[in-house]
Amino acid sequence: MHGNEPAGVQALELMFKMLEVEPITNPNFKYCGRILGLIGNLKAFKEGKRFLKKDLNRQWTLENVQRIMQSSETALDAEDQELKALLELIRAEIAEYQPEKIILLDIHTTTAYGGIFSIATEDPESLRIAVELHAPVIKGMLKGIKGTSLHYFNTQNFGIETIPIVFEAGQHQEPLSVNRAIAAITNCMRTISAVEAEDVENRHDSLLIEFSKGLPKVAELVTTHSILPKDDFQMKPDYKNFQIVKKGEVLASDKNGEIIAVEDGLILMPLYQKQGEDGFFLVRKVDY
Ligand SMILES: [Zn+2]
Repeated sequence: MHGNEPAGVQALELMFKMLEVEPITNPNFKYCGRILGLIGNLKAFKEGKRFLKKDLNRQWTLENVQRIMQSSETALDAEDQELKALLELIRAEIAEYQPEKIILLDIHTTTAYGGIFSIATEDPESLRIAVELHAPVIKGMLKGIKGTSLHYFNTQNFGIETIPIVFEAGQHQEPLSVNRAIAAITNCMRTISAVEAEDVENRHDSLLIEFSKGLPKVAELVTTHSILPKDDFQMKPDYKNFQIVKKGEVLASDKNGEIIAVEDGLILMPLYQKQGEDGFFLVRKVDY
């Protein structure tokens, strides 16, 4: 979805190679289903930018998708064209393969270091798969933002059981983010029985469990700080994902002055890049 997040793309390229060679050493290996790897925003990816015109992962509202699908290519801007191409391709695959079920694993990375996490929808199946990825699961994120893939990829819009999960693999440029994305894809394939558990190596679990040590198993959204380019938003330096913040702590500033934490909580996705519509999120641990 974001052109400046190459880890998921590299992970998929490696995953396809691994799936190809696996039967050579493991003749009983079988992949049940079809896996499709997609680069969400191809134009932005080629330029290494989050987006060209607007954030592709905020365009998936019903009205917007409808508008885009009814417009001619020339009337659309870069991200509209990307969304149209994605949906046309996915719909063609559905028509041809006729799946019983669709699982969308949307892989991202963040500008901040520290902490991988998954985002689930209210669908219990989404939460179940997210928990199996062995990273903290954030609930309630859909209330904080609009038009993400999690909002659009549901059973209602596709007419087939459709379950989306987001996986945040770490910092954009961290080499380990690729390994963690591979581990998350592997665990996802195992959880949905696309591959047999005995064909999956434990190191995929260990890598994610090790990295999630000390982080909450499930957390929920407390607040979102949305921003506009003209706000001149500046995050205070060195915040990491899941860092504890206290009510009243100065987290950032903009043209109106200081921005404080409205509650005690854990900070998520503090923004350290120019493009983006969310300054930071606050979450709190919940019992699961
Ligand atoms: Zn992203």
